[in-house]
Amino acid sequence: MRNWFAKNKEDKLAQKCSRCKQAKKLIFYANNFGVVRGLCKPCRKEIGDKEELFPI
Ligand SMILES: [Zn+2]
Repeated sequence: MRNWFAKNKEDKLAQKCSRCKQAKKLIFYANNFGVVRGLCKPCRKEIGDKEELFPI
């Protein structure tokens, strides 16, 4: 029972990058349209070259 709760909690906390869909440490950004996305560092770098990203 304890394990089930621990696992469930972990799943909830692990968020996936909106671009590469990998569970990584994410930073959240809003773009010009106000769309908020969680991006990992490499994706932030790639998207940041094409779009303006505002850390939130
Ligand atoms: Zn990513």
